[in-house]
Amino acid sequence: MSTHHTSTDDTNSRPKAVLFCPDCGHESGLSGDWIVNEGPERTTHTCPVCEATVEDRHRPEPMLAP
Ligand SMILES: [Zn+2]
Repeated sequence: MSTHHTSTDDTNSRPKAVLFCPDCGHESGLSGDWIVNEGPERTTHTCPVCEATVEDRHRPEPMLAP
């Protein structure tokens, strides 16, 4: 008798990219309800609740436009 039980680990069910608003504590994924402003060097996320700017880590990869 094999116990076929799927291990539901809550510790591993957390999404990787989650941004937190330092002002109101609003949390959402990178593709959540943030107001995304994609700049030439970095992408900023604006909180939809308090409109605070939550700066994400800037990507070091250069955008090589053909
Ligand atoms: Zn906020």
